[in-house]
Amino acid sequence: MKIAIAGSGALGCGFGYMMQKNGNDVTLIDFWEDHIKAIQKNGLTITVNGKEDNIDIPIGKPADIKDTFDAVFIFTKSMGLRHMLEEIKHLLSEDTKVICLLNGLGHAKTIAEYIPEKNIIMGTTVWTGGLDAPGKTHFMGEGPVEVQNADINEKESTLQIVKMMADSGLNGVYSQDVHFTTWRKACVNGTMNALCSLLDCNIKELFATSEHEDLIKEIVSEFSLVAETEGVHLDVEETVSYLKATAEKVGAHYPSMHQDLQNKRLTEIDFLNGTVAKEAENKGLNAPYSKLITQLIHAKEDILGIK
Ligand code: NAD
Repeated sequence: MKIAIAGSGALGCGFGYMMQKNGNDVTLIDFWEDHIKAIQKNGLTITVNGKEDNIDIPIGKPADIKDTFDAVFIFTKSMGLRHMLEEIKHLLSEDTKVICLLNGLGHAKTIAEYIPEKNIIMGTTVWTGGLDAPGKTHFMGEGPVEVQNADINEKESTLQIVKMMADSGLNGVYSQDVHFTTWRKACVNGTMNALCSLLDCNIKELFATSEHEDLIKEIVSEFSLVAETEGVHLDVEETVSYLKATAEKVGAHYPSMHQDLQNKRLTEIDFLNGTVAKEAENKGLNAPYSKLITQLIHAKEDILGIK
């Protein structure tokens, strides 16, 4: 399959590497000059589940790439999605499938402004990754990557993408309800990412605090309230149990939002708790925890001088 990775940071490089290793024709796309130059000069150095490798893989800015692709995987941060969609229009044919695995809420609506519904595939992933230096990344996990087509008639082509990911060792799975998985993943990020960032602690430390149960329940209740208005039922008790089980598995790990602040990069808070606060306000509902958390994270970005 001819594949482009639009946004080749931690996850983009990980997915690109796994798919190229499996014989797909992969091109990385990015805007970060140092990272592009490093990969062009020395190849991509990547450690997958502890094993380091180096591969030659084409990379360039959108304007440098002239081909069209069978599939484009988007791996920008949430706030970079719209800009990337603007920049990659010339890489899309009538049938190019666009797969979005970003964390956060509201991306399907943004993508629908640029891509016909028949070509949109939404999903979530529990693989994790990090950027160690320009041209050097790490990638960890065993999946799954859950995806579902936006247009109900496009299941067959989505199953081909699922198979390609499964063959590449990414554990692709066809999701029966991607809206639910997206909201549930947003609950993970809206609780653990936001609270660990504000409290400057890891997930194990968060779950050892006396206040964690109350805080998490309040946040999940607000997410559930807004999800219900979009036809997604998030049972609060079940979601809280899921979060506890996830936290136990993950342990003393600092979530990506904590790392973003440490690296002086903008967070995705507006697409998590921020979206819940805004949607609640638009719909005459109450989401005070989400609003306060969003304000506090923005205040922290300001203190750190992040633009
Ligand atoms: P990332 O920050 O590694 O990369 C995103 C973009 O930012 C890339 O274009 C990258 O080149 C650019 N970038 C990164 N560091 C930069 C720097 N110092 N200077 C200039 N540009 C820089 O993002 P990611 O972690 O791959 O995440 C992509 C999406 O996937 C996000 O929505 C994220 O929430 C989600 N996600 C990430 C993980 C994870 O473990 N990293 C896990 C699940 C979901």
